[in-house]
Amino acid sequence: TVSPRASAEQLKDPDQLIDSVETFIFDCDGVIWKGDKLIDGVPETLDMLRSKGKRLVFVTNNSTKSRKQYGKKFETLGLNVNEEEIFASSFAAAAYLKSIDFPKDKKVYVVGEDGILKELELAGIQYLGGRYEDGEKKIELKPGYMMEHDENVGAVVVGFDRYFNYYKIQYATLCIRENPGCLFIATNRDAVTHLTDAQEWAGGGSMVGAIGGSTQREPLVVGKPSTFMMDYLANKFNISKSQICMVGDRLDTDILFGQNGGCKTLLVLSGVTSLSMLQNPNNAIQPDFYTNKISDFLSLKAA
Ligand code: PLP
Ligand code: CA
Repeated sequence: TVSPRASAEQLKDPDQLIDSVETFIFDCDGVIWKGDKLIDGVPETLDMLRSKGKRLVFVTNNSTKSRKQYGKKFETLGLNVNEEEIFASSFAAAAYLKSIDFPKDKKVYVVGEDGILKELELAGIQYLGGRYEDGEKKIELKPGYMMEHDENVGAVVVGFDRYFNYYKIQYATLCIRENPGCLFIATNRDAVTHLTDAQEWAGGGSMVGAIGGSTQREPLVVGKPSTFMMDYLANKFNISKSQICMVGDRLDTDILFGQNGGCKTLLVLSGVTSLSMLQNPNNAIQPDFYTNKISDFLSLKAA
């Protein structure tokens, strides 16, 4: 349910927006940092919002780290953020499985990196797969190699995986097609990501697409723009979605996530979306407001 908005309004009076909500959900890459670099003015802006009593929550579609690992990243960047305030799509996958009471005797096959494994461990969910498929042991991948088909795999979780290969597709396909009721869960479907500034990189959507191609199944997505995390957050913190402002740099994940939840939305131009992309007639996703970066909260004053 995307609210029909003619066009986004340039943010002119941040205080009015700040006063109208009690919670800010911040996307991470493109809003708080770019890769490993903090975006200008972020610490001061977060401090100001906290001093006004706002609840701050951080949601990222990047499943390669656990919330604990993100906690360290925030700390390294000099930001005062508690891991309980961080909701990565790796955590979302584990939270989703917990929410459906995923059976203790079933396992998850993971196509993805360490963040997902760490979150499943914390949730007490058995898994196989991951970076090298065989725990930390690097296996030799060659034709003929095949992990033994485990009929207790009740879900396949697919996230961004720089160690992706044909045998992972094969194993995931086997589980999804042959194990009765096996779930197909995607952490996110971002088409491209900005691992480095030099170029765009194929995103988590590429791994999900490969397994969607062989299974002819649609995944259940737990990251943005799906409503799972929004419902989870609203429930956990007991907040009304109309009292939330979602701040992000991406239209088809962040802004849609906010709009699907019925929240206020603010697009920042410090990440992947430019003003011309926002204003392109082919773009139907219009946030309530847009501005250059979140530190505009400090520098813009109503006329
Ligand atoms: N997935 C991967 C692998 C990434 O590297 C990134 C950004 O760096 C993202 C997703 C998007 O993250 P976010 O939702 O914080 O913008
Ligand atoms: Ca982003």
